[in-house]
Amino acid sequence: MIAKVVVDVPVMDTDRTYDYLIPPNLSGKVKVGSRVVVPFGPRSIQGFVVELVQQPAPDAEQRNLKEITSVPDEEPPLTGELVELALWMSRRYICYLFTALQSMVPAAMRSTYKRWVSIPDDPSVGEQLKRHVLLTGEGEDLYYDLHRGRMEWEQIIRKYPDSEAFLQRWVKEGWVHLDREVGDRITRKKVTVVKLLTDEAELKHVIEELPAQAMKQRDVLNYFLHRPGMGGVALKQLLQETSTVRGTVQRLVERGVLVFEEVDAYRDPYEHSQFQKETPPVLTRQQQRALAPILSAIENETFEAFLLHGVTGSGKTEIYLQAIAEVLKKGKEAIVLVPEISLTPQMVRRFKGRFGDRVAVLHSRLSTGERYDEWRRIKDGRAKVAVGARSAIFAPFRHLGLIIIDEEHESSYKQEENPRYHARDIAWYRGRKNHAAVIYGSATPSLETYDTAKKGKITYLSLQERIGNRPLPQVELIDMREELRNGNRSMFSNLLKDEIDQRLKRKEQMVLFLNRRGFSTFVMCRSCGAVSRCPHCDISLTYHRYNKALRCHYCGYAEREPQSCSQCGSTHIRYFGTGTQRVEEELSQLFPGIRIIRMDVDTTSRKGAHEQLLNRFQKGQGDVLLGTQMIAKGLDFERVSLVGVIAADTVLHLPDFRSAEKTFQLLTQVGGRAGRHQLEGKVVIQTYTPEHYSIQFARNHDYRGFYEKEILEREKKGYPPFTRIILFTLSHEEATQVVKTADQLCKILKDRLPPTVTILGPVPSPVARIKNRYRFQCMLKYGTERQIPQQVAEVIRQFELERKKDKVQIVVDVDPQVMM
Ligand code: ADP
Ligand code: ZN
Ligand code: ZN
Repeated sequence: MIAKVVVDVPVMDTDRTYDYLIPPNLSGKVKVGSRVVVPFGPRSIQGFVVELVQQPAPDAEQRNLKEITSVPDEEPPLTGELVELALWMSRRYICYLFTALQSMVPAAMRSTYKRWVSIPDDPSVGEQLKRHVLLTGEGEDLYYDLHRGRMEWEQIIRKYPDSEAFLQRWVKEGWVHLDREVGDRITRKKVTVVKLLTDEAELKHVIEELPAQAMKQRDVLNYFLHRPGMGGVALKQLLQETSTVRGTVQRLVERGVLVFEEVDAYRDPYEHSQFQKETPPVLTRQQQRALAPILSAIENETFEAFLLHGVTGSGKTEIYLQAIAEVLKKGKEAIVLVPEISLTPQMVRRFKGRFGDRVAVLHSRLSTGERYDEWRRIKDGRAKVAVGARSAIFAPFRHLGLIIIDEEHESSYKQEENPRYHARDIAWYRGRKNHAAVIYGSATPSLETYDTAKKGKITYLSLQERIGNRPLPQVELIDMREELRNGNRSMFSNLLKDEIDQRLKRKEQMVLFLNRRGFSTFVMCRSCGAVSRCPHCDISLTYHRYNKALRCHYCGYAEREPQSCSQCGSTHIRYFGTGTQRVEEELSQLFPGIRIIRMDVDTTSRKGAHEQLLNRFQKGQGDVLLGTQMIAKGLDFERVSLVGVIAADTVLHLPDFRSAEKTFQLLTQVGGRAGRHQLEGKVVIQTYTPEHYSIQFARNHDYRGFYEKEILEREKKGYPPFTRIILFTLSHEEATQVVKTADQLCKILKDRLPPTVTILGPVPSPVARIKNRYRFQCMLKYGTERQIPQQVAEVIRQFELERKKDKVQIVVDVDPQVMM
């Protein structure tokens, strides 16, 4: 048998399978999906088996086949279905196969490489090193250490911080030997279990024989006597239940009655949480109507996708829970994706409360070990429901019956590093392969999903009312141009100031929202709200400070910085990109003593900071929660009665064809934050363009109206879903080098792809420089030709192989969500 292995060297040259022999001692263990360690050139590396065949591939270099060295896991971490999926992903997203495979397993399985340093056996070499050390005194202590046995490189550097330089020289001279060893970061938690070694009759006998004063030992043995047939009990539990100490049990072990055993355990991230068992409520009429078709798809085991469209609080999660219950009843499994940010303890409680420890939770705040164990519970069949962020879509279930993507419009479902997959597509793929139901849920579905539903490929289900008929909050639009005309130059309108003041007096809380920190800036007239847009692409022009120019970063169109407004002639022209810090300052000046909790990239970069800030707000330690879009979703605070949006325009003028959609989603979601409980909620939206349709439709809670208008705009301009986009971002430390390579790339794409494909650029990216690397991009637009990604992949492969030396990094993003 030959194993075809994809190796952990993700570069273009090695993006294929290599043949390896399976040695007899591993013959039963190597399967499709196995993780293996193999020799590769002079090294030892990790790989995944993607196929088993009888004959090796007939090419010459493979005549001397090497053997697989080892198989680290008991069972293959990937199922056959996942291996297939990885192959599909590598074509669909134009990424390396290894990268796709690795994204499906927990981080603990990523390879680590250790370097062992030792003194060679050859006595003449040893003699040379010895002479050198004695003569120069260099590394004398290390030399004696190494005589006692090999040492790991990192360990040496820790012990002798100055040794790195001469150690490298020793290696070069051949005085010491370097062995590389491949490993991983898997650690297993062990617990001590106590087991009984005797049968019942003998146990009774032992108890009788115990001296009268050995009361504690008697208690322990009685514990076992009263539980016949019990396999064993965790030492910790035994000590607790019999109120004894370890010494007592130890004595019984020494007598040969009991025995200690170390067994594998699962780390449980929710070990210390109690989950109240809860019973499902009776569904409302509209919930029943939505659930019925989902249940019949589950019942018939057919692939069917649903869009569950319902405002926040309309009972979507309850529908998920009842659909999952049905799936479990059939002995099948379910995946639930939730945006990272809304994977709060409250959310977890709802799932664990209903399904107990059949729920595994996967998210990035778990430790590597915890995540590995939660994943293992899925793999071992102990967990039947995986609740998690994006990557939980790869949960290794074998009888998948249901996939749910909550808040399906969320951009965090798209991975912004390789492989650049969208969980929405993966859900569709796995649903189809497993004959499972797929539910996309949202209050503001992405235009693409809604459009697919309109075309009938997704079943549309809607929930129109909130549970308990709680009204949607009242939304006030403030025209900031008017404020300016009335002499108010502050970033707060008079109404918003007034509302804040009232909340402070009533001791209620508020959320103030500002768009993401100003990465990209645009130029806007404060008198009339006009923003310069590209005449060809209809996206906002981006202001580039270094040459004071406005530029379209799709097609490259440029114009000079305007001195006055082209619409109204006003000179009140401003660059937008206000930071949260400035809002905080102004707020403190207006309301001395106001307690502000600021949440943005700066205050939440530390691990756990995000939750801490939210906790403080929850406890009432702040009047205002001020933040970027991270506060817009999923949060639910009882005492919040006001939500303010400082400037809706910052999203609207993102240089992105989805900016209207993002504005609509954001304003709708932000509105959903207010008035979820007893307090009546109010939303104040400030804007310089109140007439814009995205803002108008959001104010009226009119999704349908928004869709009808937006889909026309997309069609007119030729944007998705009418076309598809592939974005190339090139970066390098020298601008001239990026430009040169980008030009070459565009030329090759134009030459080799059919003329129906439009290629725009190269142009500087809106974020023109990151970490000293200049960034340029080109955009490829095509219609419905399905073979284009494959052709692009081929062009890129050729191009990468030909231009190896220039070190320009090329990132390919198929169906990009972020255009910067
Ligand atoms: P969504 O997911 O759409 O925001 P939820 O499922 O969280 O909505 O429901 C909102 C609130 O209403 C929750 O507190 C939930 O427990 C409650 N709820 C949902 N369905 C029912 C029902 N049929 N009867 C009573 N309460 C319900
Ligand atoms: Zn103007
Ligand atoms: Zn343009």
